[in-house]
Amino acid sequence: VQILDRLSEMLAAQKRAHALQPYPSRRERIDRLDRLRSLLALYGARLTAAVEQDFGTRSPIVTAIADTMFVQRAIAHARRHLGEWMAARPVATGILFAPSRGEVVCQPLGTVGIIGAWNYPIQLVLSPLVDVIAAGNRAILKPSELTPRYAELLESAIGDAFSPEEVAVVTGGAEVGQALASLPLDHLVFTGSGRVGRLIAAAAAPNLTPVTLELGGKSPAIVHPSAHLPRAADRVAWGKLLNAGQTCIAPDYALVHEDYVEAFATAVSESIARQYPTIAGNPDYTSIITGRHYNRLRSLVDDARAHGARVVEVNPGSGVVDHASRKIAPTLLLGVTGEMTVMQEEIFGPLLPIVPYASHDEAIAFVNERDRPLALYWFGTSSKHRRHILERTVSGAVTINGTLVHIAQENLPFGGVGPSGQGHYHGEAGFRRFSKEKSVFFESRFSAMRLLYPPYRGAAERRLRWLDRWPFNR
Ligand code: NAD
Repeated sequence: VQILDRLSEMLAAQKRAHALQPYPSRRERIDRLDRLRSLLALYGARLTAAVEQDFGTRSPIVTAIADTMFVQRAIAHARRHLGEWMAARPVATGILFAPSRGEVVCQPLGTVGIIGAWNYPIQLVLSPLVDVIAAGNRAILKPSELTPRYAELLESAIGDAFSPEEVAVVTGGAEVGQALASLPLDHLVFTGSGRVGRLIAAAAAPNLTPVTLELGGKSPAIVHPSAHLPRAADRVAWGKLLNAGQTCIAPDYALVHEDYVEAFATAVSESIARQYPTIAGNPDYTSIITGRHYNRLRSLVDDARAHGARVVEVNPGSGVVDHASRKIAPTLLLGVTGEMTVMQEEIFGPLLPIVPYASHDEAIAFVNERDRPLALYWFGTSSKHRRHILERTVSGAVTINGTLVHIAQENLPFGGVGPSGQGHYHGEAGFRRFSKEKSVFFESRFSAMRLLYPPYRGAAERRLRWLDRWPFNR
């Protein structure tokens, strides 16, 4: 109750401020974006260090690529395009209504709640925030409790850069998230698991709070015989092992033509050895976030082994990867079956099942029998097979001949479909998502509608018959 009261008061203060300033000008929005940019410049190194401490091992380069630089690029893009996005978009009007006209204007919604996951803790709260403030809103942020040092520092950094009526931070775990989701927010963005996403949608439902759910799932990487095998292996290994597989759009498993499974497994191992010449003690190789997550991944491997999978641990340098560092060596799993847990839940760690397929149709069917994934990767050069993949599978996004990089495209909307999420953000898609796209119609002095006013006897009836014969009605 205490936390609910505190959050309600936060929201009430933001609503009062919003009522006084319901449509921040472009300059005011740019000022907020600039303050976010300065926050990153000022606190970036400390935020990065806090994330590193929260993980145990995590390279500042990973945090730069996927967190701080990612958000900085989003800010630059929003600053550059804000004027265009804010401009009313005129729409065509039917001749019956000429010379009236219509347009769509994007209006700020008010307060948007942002609940983030721990894996890219800076990106997952601040990148939605860029879109939210570009659209003229206020925000209440809740970072994950699994990155506590980061969360605490974020709270003070945001406190320095923004008034609580503009952007507020609340820290804590499930109870706090639950309380935030139950408030009458104007929109709620949630990044996390499908299990919690369902609880969030249920908590938001009584208020009809619109939700954007950025969830996860098992994203496949399909390797077609027409693919350049070493390059495909390189990019799958990179996408899998960035942040030790703790990436929502990491390739979860590889579907490889049966003739190439062994060659692919070898190529992936070689690529891993190039990227991570050692695992133990390697500062580039991220730790698993908590002991609980570490044990879950270990038991996925044990379960697969017990059910007959071939487990290939790729440990270049052969150092002892000890329990204390919470690191798990990259592990290829061959001969996996549907009864193994690793093929049922999202892996979210450095394990790569390699599943053989006999025909392209079989690979497509394999994907379609499962939940619609957040991302799908296809490697190959055959345009016919590429077209089949694009037309016959449904996923949040696709990268052809690569992994992960679609997320970094400011002009591509980012989001899942079905169990992998709903709603899109990034760039203009985010600006619109966090706006009310309001239809406005300007009726002119002259309007044909006048011909159809009652009384409906005589003239109106004849006019209706006459209008009905007009070619534009056909
Ligand atoms: P999670 O669902 O456990 O937690 C996410 C957030 O929800 C945290 O802030 C947590 O405190 C909060 N929370 C937990 N229980 C809650 C409850 N009952 N009510 C309200 N809030 C609650 O997810 P996670 O472990 O932090 O993240 C991993 C998952 O997130 C993976 O499934 C991954 O694929 C997904 N993910 C998706 C994206 C994306 O952009 N689509 C990005 C990163 C991670």
